[in-house]
Amino acid sequence: MSTSLETIRFRVMGIMSQMDVFSDTNLQPLAEIKIGKIRKNATRLHGVCRYNLGVDKKRKDLSPADVKEISLHPESLSEEWTRYAEFLLFHEFLHALGYSGHNRAFRKLEALWPDIGAKDMGLKFTKYLRRLNAKYSWKCPNCDWQTERSVRAAGRYVCRTCRVKLVDCALTIE
Ligand SMILES: [Zn+2]
Ligand SMILES: [Zn+2]
Repeated sequence: MSTSLETIRFRVMGIMSQMDVFSDTNLQPLAEIKIGKIRKNATRLHGVCRYNLGVDKKRKDLSPADVKEISLHPESLSEEWTRYAEFLLFHEFLHALGYSGHNRAFRKLEALWPDIGAKDMGLKFTKYLRRLNAKYSWKCPNCDWQTERSVRAAGRYVCRTCRVKLVDCALTIE
């Protein structure tokens, strides 16, 4: 089962409306922002806030009206990652509210998200996506160390420990 983008938007806006820091902020325009999905094979990009063409990100008065689209990774919508998807949307909503960069003010607001564990799910999510997208396993013929990747090593990489070229093994795709 996966959660719909609208459900996630509804929950995140509900939580934000309860946060003291936004008591003077009009959150309603966040309901109008278009929310889409990132390409499925992205692994490190989990969420993105794109501003309209020509918008200067350094402007001090950026608002949700300047946002073209927010996108989340489609895999974050599966049930086990919903908490992370909510945190991701909160993060992108902060950008939409005018905090365009990841500066100290942004990080302070981000840290106020009440679901403490959700923020730390990012690294696990990256690993999960990498495994999901993996087509090859790069193996060290010497020590048997291996890592799953979407592209071939093709003789370009060596084992960090043994300095021996890694070999490609195709993974069975189900
Ligand atoms: Zn960001
Ligand atoms: Zn090795």
